[in-house]
Amino acid sequence: MWAFHRLSTLKDFLNRQRAEGRSIGFVPTMGALHEGHLSLIRRSKDAQEVAICSIFVNPTQFNDPTDLLKYPRTEAEDLYLLHQTGCAAAFLPSEPEVYPAGQGVGPDFRFGVLDKTMEGEFRPGHFKGVAQVVHRLLQMVEPDSIYMGQKDFQQVAIVREMIKQANLPVRLVMCPTAREENGLAMSSRNVRLSGAQRSRAALIYEMLQDVRARAHGDNLPALEVEALQRLRGEPGFRPEYFSVVDGKTLQPVRSLADSDYVVVCVACWVGDVRLIDNLIIKE
Ligand code: AMP
Repeated sequence: MWAFHRLSTLKDFLNRQRAEGRSIGFVPTMGALHEGHLSLIRRSKDAQEVAICSIFVNPTQFNDPTDLLKYPRTEAEDLYLLHQTGCAAAFLPSEPEVYPAGQGVGPDFRFGVLDKTMEGEFRPGHFKGVAQVVHRLLQMVEPDSIYMGQKDFQQVAIVREMIKQANLPVRLVMCPTAREENGLAMSSRNVRLSGAQRSRAALIYEMLQDVRARAHGDNLPALEVEALQRLRGEPGFRPEYFSVVDGKTLQPVRSLADSDYVVVCVACWVGDVRLIDNLIIKE
């Protein structure tokens, strides 16, 4: 596997691949890789693409400076995992490489209601930073496809909209959430949970499944309230939202009959670790 820190050498590599008729699959990450990230690499390889994975902890998407400081960094291990998974190249740009001095941070995208709810409400500015960095990375890598995880459902919606607005010629593929054995969505932040927290955090996925099992007619708001109460009652848990929304507009859905694409999304602090998860309950 190749590892590039500079855009110029990555470009040489990509140009050689394209000249030989290969298409490029791209997986942007912030490192601290786990099975969820690796499943995206495999998906790209299944599509017969040259898989490229970027590792860049993007400062502009952290609304909380402590979160940025505490973000796990495990570069050597990440490179080993990528190599083992058959990733063709890792791209590890420096901050000035991504945001060259004097060039600004890219277009100022407007997302309407998409970035006002859920994560947008609790992490102001977060999606602006996400759209900026993904736009910039797509300009750098110019892949045929970009692979992103359903775990960050709202992020996928934002990137889909950004690609549309910027008219970028790239296919966006949303891949299923990889989970721990107990159902907890895999996340780079999970390493900051204690063993006990990690096993109790399975309650978040249980609540999502509970809503899927019990949703009927217009009982969705009642199920939301019940789930929030259940999470609040768990020592050390602090849910921020538990929302049943339309999968395209991300607006609240009161009844299953109101939409043909319905997703339940949740964000919950467990100790000082903020976890998110979601489940599609109608598609
Ligand atoms: P991150 O490094 O957390 O920014 O994530 C990089 C990419 O991996 C994003 O597209 C995430 O949605 C995806 N990802 C993170 N966790 C998972 C997971 N448990 N299952 C599938 N994809 C994931």
